[in-house]
Amino acid sequence: MRKRILLVTLLVSVLGIVLLSVLFTDVFYRQSIEAVNGQLQIYMDVYAAERQGEPLTQEGAEAFAAELRGVRVTFLAADGTVLGDSEADAAAMEDHSGREEVAEALENGEGFAVRDSATLGYDSVYYCRTFEREGETYLVRLATQANSGFAIFVDALPTVLLLLAVDIFICLFVAWLATSFILRPVEKLTQEAATAAGKEVRTSYPELQPLAKMMNDMNAEIGSQLARMREDRSIEKLVLNSMEHGIVIFRSAEEIPLINRTARYLLGYEKNEPIACFSEDAEIAAVLAAGEPATLARRIGGRDYSFRFTFGEPANVLLITDMTDIMAAARSKNDFIANVTHEMNTPLTSIRGFAELIGAGAIPPEKLESVADTIIRQSDRLSHLIRSIINFSAIDSDDLPDYEVDLTEIVRELAVNFEPSLRQKSITFTLDAEEGVKVFSRRERLVEILNNLVSNGIRYNKEGGSLAVRLTGGAAPVLSVSDTGIGISKENQGRIFDRFYTVDRSHNGEGGGFGLGLATVKKLCQRAGWKLSVESEEGVGTTFSIQFCPKK
Ligand code: ADP
Repeated sequence: MRKRILLVTLLVSVLGIVLLSVLFTDVFYRQSIEAVNGQLQIYMDVYAAERQGEPLTQEGAEAFAAELRGVRVTFLAADGTVLGDSEADAAAMEDHSGREEVAEALENGEGFAVRDSATLGYDSVYYCRTFEREGETYLVRLATQANSGFAIFVDALPTVLLLLAVDIFICLFVAWLATSFILRPVEKLTQEAATAAGKEVRTSYPELQPLAKMMNDMNAEIGSQLARMREDRSIEKLVLNSMEHGIVIFRSAEEIPLINRTARYLLGYEKNEPIACFSEDAEIAAVLAAGEPATLARRIGGRDYSFRFTFGEPANVLLITDMTDIMAAARSKNDFIANVTHEMNTPLTSIRGFAELIGAGAIPPEKLESVADTIIRQSDRLSHLIRSIINFSAIDSDDLPDYEVDLTEIVRELAVNFEPSLRQKSITFTLDAEEGVKVFSRRERLVEILNNLVSNGIRYNKEGGSLAVRLTGGAAPVLSVSDTGIGISKENQGRIFDRFYTVDRSHNGEGGGFGLGLATVKKLCQRAGWKLSVESEEGVGTTFSIQFCPKK
């Protein structure tokens, strides 16, 4: 800004000096012409007073010119014929009636003209007057040379240049002072605004106060926008980093505008390093080269992930999703179907086999009764399996409301129900239940749990063994079912709660169940938030415990 002001000032002052010089030259030139004209008029008056009677010849002209020193004298007849000239041969000179000064004199009695001279730097000044001699009009013309305008300007040029230099210096100095004076407060204000960093910009100049206010308002607005942007960014960062999915926004293996924590961990990404698998994994490299959306499956640290690549503007995206649970669920669903099919197939094959034999008359009449018995047992087994599956699956959709159930009462009823089975295996049963222990649930769920635990305690017990059911009350009642049976190995203790898992598959169906009992107990406890545990020693016995923690 300062530069521009100085430049404009310089231009204006130079232009001013040049114009002034031209103007002065013109005035001076006019004045000098005026002066020369005045001089010639005086000479003409001298002629009129002293030389009117002299002959109008070449010699007469030369004599008068010699007296005037340097002034050219020309005598002319009224028709413009040159009668005598002090500097040229009159006879050779053309008719002068057309000359401006002559024509003017013939009309007004005197005439004046200025013309370019043959000599460089000079103009010719002519003054002409009419006279009368013996009734005849004749003209006398005096001419001399005066400096031309250009010559005057050239003469004055050194002075003009000196003046110009002084003027430039003064102008620049004054302009610099003035701009400093005007700009310093603005510069100070700008500097303060630039280094304000949240502080208020102040100025003591009232003219600049609106500007300072505007800067403060803008600073405040920018500040709050920046704070908002920072907050948005940290929220975005928080969201991205807390995502269990890995996300990478990339343009190439080296140019990665965004990568979240999960992706950094899964890809082993180091800051300012390229993503290694983008070049080392041939399949990924091929997807990147093709630039077409693709999904790849990868196994990292024993877990399954899907790598989904999408390509676009302004960047490409890699979304890494943990598929382990989804795949496990799919596997478990397939296993479940396979198990159900397998468990159903066994009784069905047996029923069908016997039915075919009966149909073919291949069973002797005395064996028919035992075959029919087998068919009935297999049918029971099938319906038991179907019931177990329905029970197990129904837990997920059981949204019936809970209510207070007297668990002591259920335990007592159960002991009565299981009496025949206990007696069959000569098992000593002890029940130690606190009175009126209440649990917030549904009766059928608690019956299901107790049925499974007690029936297992009998089924996997030894002949003449014992079975003890204990129930304590309090804020979190505890139920335990202990037997002195075959026990469960440490290895199997972790698996007995899986669906269709049975330690000894030969037990399946008849003696044992289908491996759905404990899975059902576990599912019911999980949904209610109860703690289920098992303690067991092979050959010694097993204790299943449930702590009925109240729902928060
Ligand atoms: P099942 O219907 O086969 O009994 P469960 O899910 O109830 O299925 O039990 C799974 C497996 O756990 C059983 O096959 C058995 O091997 C083992 N088990 C369960 N309860 C006991 C127990 N009280 N003593 C020893 N083993 C047991």
